[in-house]
Amino acid sequence: MLSLFHRNTFLPDFKALVSQETKAFFILNIMEKKNIPGLPHLQFRNIFCIGRNYVEHAKELNNEVPSKPLVFLKPTSSIIFDGENIQIPPQSQNVHHEVELAVAIDKAGKEIPKEKAIEHIGGYGIGIDVTARDIQQKAKEQGHPWSVAKGFDTFAPLSTFIKKDQVEDPQNLNLQISVNGEVRQSDSTKLMIHTAADLIHYLSTIFTLQPGDIILTGTPKGVSSISKGDKIEASLDNGLTIISVTVE
Ligand code: ZN
Repeated sequence: MLSLFHRNTFLPDFKALVSQETKAFFILNIMEKKNIPGLPHLQFRNIFCIGRNYVEHAKELNNEVPSKPLVFLKPTSSIIFDGENIQIPPQSQNVHHEVELAVAIDKAGKEIPKEKAIEHIGGYGIGIDVTARDIQQKAKEQGHPWSVAKGFDTFAPLSTFIKKDQVEDPQNLNLQISVNGEVRQSDSTKLMIHTAADLIHYLSTIFTLQPGDIILTGTPKGVSSISKGDKIEASLDNGLTIISVTVE
């Protein structure tokens, strides 16, 4: 600290101090995000994500529809909540929104039969699978995993979750996202190739599902770029739960 007041080192040390404080702020903010909003008895564990789970979305990116669910994970450090900001990382020039139904697991299980799958759900939310599309494209071409395109800090905005008894049928929910008031994606979860129950069954044949695990179930058509200053609002079934975030 003393060097802060030294005539010759004041400026560089001051800058270093500010950037250290900024980093510390982000680290604390990330570490505080343990409890799932709306389901406070649950703490976030894994975020399982599903790619290409809507035919029209697979087509818009010239991808084939996989016969089995395409699974990847996001780190919990990418979670942000309502009112927070998506940060465009310096490594990407093309960041996309993907609005998705988020499912929170409330009961552990392995090899869960499809007909019992819904019993393992605690609630539902709306999530945005923020994606650095240019980095993902390069990874796809090289046959590399997608984590680097999907896992940046702030790349998993999640709404407050609603309890599962408030949702009659998870396969009959509208997902909508607007950017600066313009609707970019709006489709029903009826169009999912693999239902929430299918996904719980499939994932649990590989991973032991645990309370606090989140499944982001894939995005419908209409993904597009977001940029600094954009105001984004995503809504589950016309306002059952919403999330608003700004792009920084
Ligand atoms: Zn996605």
